[in-house]
Amino acid sequence: MPLVVQKFGGTSVADSQKILAAARKAIRTQQAGNQVLMVVSAMGKNTDVLVDLAAELTDRPPAREMDMLLSTGEQVSVALMAMAIGSLGAKGISLTGGQIGIRTDSTHTKARIKSISTERMRRLLDEGYIVIAAGFQGIDEDLNITTLGRGGSDTTAVALAAVLGADTCEIYTDVDGVYTTDPRLLPAARKMRQVSYDEMLELASLGAGVMHSRAIEFGKKFVVPIHVRSSFTDIPGTMIVAEPEAPDLAVSGAALVKDEALVTLCGIPDTPGTSLTLFSKIAARNVAVDMIVQNVGAAGFADISFTVPRDDLRATRDAVEEARLELGAAYCADREDVSKVSVVGLGMARQTGVADRMFRALAEAGINILMIATSEIKISVLVNREQGAEALRAVHRAFALEREPAPPRAGTAQSQPAHRDALAIVTRLQGMEDLTISDIALDETQARVTIAGVPDRPGIAARVFEGIAAGGQFVDMIVQSIGHEEQASMSFTVPRADLDKAVALVSGLAKGLGCGAVSGSPRIAKLSVSGVGLRSHTDVAIRMFRALAGTGINVEMINTSEVRVNVVVDGQKGQAGLKALQDAFADVRG
Ligand code: ASP
Ligand code: MG
Repeated sequence: MPLVVQKFGGTSVADSQKILAAARKAIRTQQAGNQVLMVVSAMGKNTDVLVDLAAELTDRPPAREMDMLLSTGEQVSVALMAMAIGSLGAKGISLTGGQIGIRTDSTHTKARIKSISTERMRRLLDEGYIVIAAGFQGIDEDLNITTLGRGGSDTTAVALAAVLGADTCEIYTDVDGVYTTDPRLLPAARKMRQVSYDEMLELASLGAGVMHSRAIEFGKKFVVPIHVRSSFTDIPGTMIVAEPEAPDLAVSGAALVKDEALVTLCGIPDTPGTSLTLFSKIAARNVAVDMIVQNVGAAGFADISFTVPRDDLRATRDAVEEARLELGAAYCADREDVSKVSVVGLGMARQTGVADRMFRALAEAGINILMIATSEIKISVLVNREQGAEALRAVHRAFALEREPAPPRAGTAQSQPAHRDALAIVTRLQGMEDLTISDIALDETQARVTIAGVPDRPGIAARVFEGIAAGGQFVDMIVQSIGHEEQASMSFTVPRADLDKAVALVSGLAKGLGCGAVSGSPRIAKLSVSGVGLRSHTDVAIRMFRALAGTGINVEMINTSEVRVNVVVDGQKGQAGLKALQDAFADVRG
């Protein structure tokens, strides 16, 4: 019999009427011939109420007691849900995380799942029960109650769906699906029929708060089809599966992160280990760094720019100043009036002419690009905050995201059910949520082109990349950052065989645009680490930097995404770098 997991978030069980409505949905699903497992969050804002209560007593509640407290929210919901189901004439039974056997580590308030026992759930499902599992909680080895971090019921739901091999995992929430961009920011946003795990991970990291990132990583790792939908209607929502909605389209979604800060450290001696020093100091302050752009240094000096959430700027400044002194860098600068606009799409990995379309749209709207960073499936630019909303609108329009794409052609692969192979990984890794590195790769086929002295005004990037596209030139990694005296420098990689042609092409363009010198380096190697869990295991980049620094390898360019971290290093060090990374990640190969 098919098995459906249905997760109801806090707003979907906020009062007894809503609990009854959720119970009816589950019963209908069961009557349609499915086994049903419900996962339920705390009612409404109950978790916040409990957090506030604790705060009235102490500034520093012990994490163990916090978990004891917060887990009661879900315990209330599951009991009421079981009563509601019984009152409607069906069989419901509630179980806590401990009763299910959700074993976690002992990191209270953000525990990771280690294993789940399925026997009891299976037996009850086979006996015709609707099983109601408390979300967000588990127990550690000593039977202490743990919680999985705020929003963790999503993770519980997808994890249970994975171990039970459920046919789908439905996430009932107060929005009716995943949109091409936040509809509150842009009414033209369109609800997607389907989105891929990788795109959803990127969009979630850009603030699409529909689902917990850890739950999406889980879904990806165990190939659980996730259906995000409204609990208040029966209209289908958005399926999160392996394939995107329209595999031929370059861009699936766009996002604006309004409150960012840009930090630049200039004049860093261009030697191995500098990124490690800088970013481990920032990580030690629990600040998540994004859009790292390290530009190739002139005369043995490099500049590193990166963004952090505006609220974290103060903590970041301390870390950067420490690093500046330690590294003997020239100076650091920051500004907090910037926003990040990104486009995301699995399709862009196979297409050219995506970046220039984005840059053109921004140029036509008169928007200056302060910084650019690309990854396989994402292009992000940093703009002045006052132009952020306009930039989002321009980009959404340029890729016609409001338009419904044609349905996938017949025969196009659709979502597969959860496959069992993935479960074998679990046993091997011990912990289900461990970082899994799927690939460590060396690409020695590329070369780098750098344009110095790029004037800081709208339209330059558009003209450069349109010219490149018109010349039929394929480009891969693109980075641009503001360096000394408001002069940006821009680097990108091209196939090595095309280097001379690309330099000639770009030199012509650069001159006409008032840029400085164009240089090329045939000797680069691109190293990448891909996997699942890079989002929640933020130390991946740092581990890479440490491994490379330990081998005396200098990092020239960096770019990061949710599923991959790329670095460009000296071309003669490619093999050594690969070896160092393989050793550094040997314990987590999937
Ligand atoms: N009740 C928990 C929270 O509010 C878990 C959840 O809702 O997913 O964070
Ligand atoms: Mg919640």
